[in-house]
Amino acid sequence: MKIARVQGTEFSYPTRRSVDGAGHSHPGPEIQARLALLTITTEDGQSGHAFAPPEVIRPHVIDAFVRKVLVGQDAFQREQLWHGLEHWQRGSAGQLTDRSLAAVDQALWDLAGRALGQPVYRLIGGYRDKVPAYGSTMCGDEFKGGLSTPDEYADFAERLVSRGYKAIKLHTWMPPVSFAPSVEMDIKACAAVREAVGPHIPLMLDGYHNYSRVDALTIGRALEKLNFTWFEEMMNEQSMASYAWLADQLDIPIVGPESLSGKHHSRADWVKAGACDILRAGVPGVGGISPTLKVAHLAESFGMQCEVHGNGAGNLAVCAAIRNCRWYERGLLHPFLDYDEVPAYLNQLADPMDAEGYVHLSPLPGLGEDINFGYIEAHTLRKY
Ligand code: MG
Repeated sequence: MKIARVQGTEFSYPTRRSVDGAGHSHPGPEIQARLALLTITTEDGQSGHAFAPPEVIRPHVIDAFVRKVLVGQDAFQREQLWHGLEHWQRGSAGQLTDRSLAAVDQALWDLAGRALGQPVYRLIGGYRDKVPAYGSTMCGDEFKGGLSTPDEYADFAERLVSRGYKAIKLHTWMPPVSFAPSVEMDIKACAAVREAVGPHIPLMLDGYHNYSRVDALTIGRALEKLNFTWFEEMMNEQSMASYAWLADQLDIPIVGPESLSGKHHSRADWVKAGACDILRAGVPGVGGISPTLKVAHLAESFGMQCEVHGNGAGNLAVCAAIRNCRWYERGLLHPFLDYDEVPAYLNQLADPMDAEGYVHLSPLPGLGEDINFGYIEAHTLRKY
């Protein structure tokens, strides 16, 4: 099945999510945002698709790297194609990122699923067809009635439990919020949420990502008293030694690395160094579904969980394909936004959740995204 074409389609869609000066999303006024759809088509007319930010699959990336590696090659030789791109990253002067590799890898998996008439999660493992979700909050803010105080986190946590979530992860306050970071406020928010939801809802914390070792230890000890399930990315992940230092002193599981580069290679180093108790990888961050599976299987080999980072069809497929991931990360969630509202470019949510807190996998062939091609066509900004 030879690849004939690689195409990008950039389009606009309305959203009420805006991004602050540090890249964190918050609710805001409705704006027109941009997204791109990568489409890979074979000579016999099979197609696979993946969504990505337009800059990730911009024309230069498609022209200079992706088309050169893919066109004319067998679409089912995913590992060979992935390594062809991965090898080129070193000489790409930083232009060809793991995020670009992830878009290509997902589109190739989507193509394989559509061509074979099978959902991807069954092709890559097929462990279950529904996954329990944790509600993952947006970062804290300074909006009254939003996530601006420990009590507002507690109120929102109660709402999430009544929606069906059986676990919750807090993202607390980070700059540019005026009082962030604050060890004291983070601990207060965690305590307020624990008090609100009772002892039986698993809770996790993803706080400011640049705490010092000593501040991280203070928070970690507080979380142990509050019976939290894990503690995530509290320090800069470039310092593996700091994570090994912290993991050595705390009983609460440390999960990571999430934002660190290095794909499955860096995850292996973290296991060897004892820098985490639970491994972490997300499809966009480590270069696709294929390397995320390598991280998950690495973790399983060492008797470890691999908690998949982030939402979306690719991450959900991995969660359903493996045994050693407990939760799907659903979000990011905020009191002012309705996560269950279907984005304009889809016909239905890729991660619908029932009242018991389970996200159900789509039976559709491919990644399971029910794409509204008519909407995308009508709102196309450019094709390349
Ligand atoms: Mg995180």
